[in-house]
Amino acid sequence: MIDDYEVIIGLEIHVELKTQSKMFCSCSAEYFGEKPNTHTCPVCLGLPGAMPVANLLAIQYSQMLGMAVNCDNPLNTKFDRKNYFYPDLPKGFQISQYDLPFSQNGFTNISIKSDKGIKSIKRIGITRAHLEEDTGKLTHATVDGKKVTLIDYNRSSVPLLEIVSEPDMRSAEEAKAYAQKIHQIVRYIGISDADMEEGSMRIEPNVSLCSRNNKNTTNNTNNKLPSYKVELKNINSFKFAEKAINFEIKRQAEILDRGETPIQETRGWNENKNETVSQRSKEEAHDYRYFPEPDIPPFVFAKKYIDGLKAKIPELPDAKLERFQKDYQLSEYDAEILTRDIEMADYFDEATKAGKEADLTPKQIANVIINKKPDIGKILPATLVKDIKASSQKATVNQNDLNKAVEEVISENKKAAEDYMSGKENILMFLVGQVMRKLEGKADANEVKEALIKELKK
Ligand code: ZN
Ligand code: MN
Repeated sequence: MIDDYEVIIGLEIHVELKTQSKMFCSCSAEYFGEKPNTHTCPVCLGLPGAMPVANLLAIQYSQMLGMAVNCDNPLNTKFDRKNYFYPDLPKGFQISQYDLPFSQNGFTNISIKSDKGIKSIKRIGITRAHLEEDTGKLTHATVDGKKVTLIDYNRSSVPLLEIVSEPDMRSAEEAKAYAQKIHQIVRYIGISDADMEEGSMRIEPNVSLCSRNNKNTTNNTNNKLPSYKVELKNINSFKFAEKAINFEIKRQAEILDRGETPIQETRGWNENKNETVSQRSKEEAHDYRYFPEPDIPPFVFAKKYIDGLKAKIPELPDAKLERFQKDYQLSEYDAEILTRDIEMADYFDEATKAGKEADLTPKQIANVIINKKPDIGKILPATLVKDIKASSQKATVNQNDLNKAVEEVISENKKAAEDYMSGKENILMFLVGQVMRKLEGKADANEVKEALIKELKK
């Protein structure tokens, strides 16, 4: 029974950093949609003798992410070699960080709703955020009737930040909320597009179950962790992550119910079958024979440098959410929608400035943005404010006049009303036009439409 177990989830999130050049060479890091193997050089192809040079901006971005999630930024750090062979990794090792990452010991808060709709805040620990390089990309295809694997090294050595959480999540819902929070922060500080579909953000949940009876035998949190964990790889949407975790919880509970222990392994999500499938057994850290990267000297950062980076961190989502409620007198619900995405939040901030001069309250502007969803990529904030102002002056008709006009139009156009009720929905626009004419255009077309539908369905 699932209820007999406590769910333990930790997340590894990989984020490709938005730098112009790659992590250790000057090749362009913008590879998406480019012709295969055109963004390569001896360094990112792993040719013998090629020497890596670390990308400073990528290091700064990874330290900034750490700062945004309350991590320490050690002044002494280094890169390490993680040794393993795979066709997408031509060097036979990945330059990564083992024991001295750029950021460690942080946390972020997620907000979760209970079944009864009560909101609570939960702190999720962040173990570390280390910098490494991405691998090439394999495509399995059929060429001239033969099954082949094609390799594109354009992605090889693109800066990759790995953010590792503590096993603090207890449900798929919490894991999803945490992943979304990291996504939001990464986009707020502008270090990555974090586009899940394009693969610039990838989520890997570790899932295991702990028997509730065993739990009572120990007080030490660390000892409560199960003896195994299953890693879910290559998940490219928040929804799939949630589904894959829930599938795993059920699958593992069934194994444990039989008195067995699930195998420690890596599994993938098959979105057609809606199930996880075994990929390979999971390596232990010692299998990778980590050692300090000999081609890149260790780093010693000055405190002044770290403080300078800290000053570059913009207002973060939690602070913005609070400010929007306090300064703009918005409900938490509205503020949450407007701060979810940094572009939207910036847009709203801009619009309120223009709104002040036009005598519009932030709430009036928020209502229009939330309900009418204008294309903020196309309409300037000042233009939107002007439009809101204009339509608020125009729509002077009161509810009684509107209802009266609607009733009149329906009784004068019985045939059209019947046609609408029998399914000819297009005829509604004709009726809207009739009402507008009666009101001399002094009404909002959407409101007229709503009033008509309400009256027709009475
Ligand atoms: Zn290169
Ligand atoms: Mn990694």
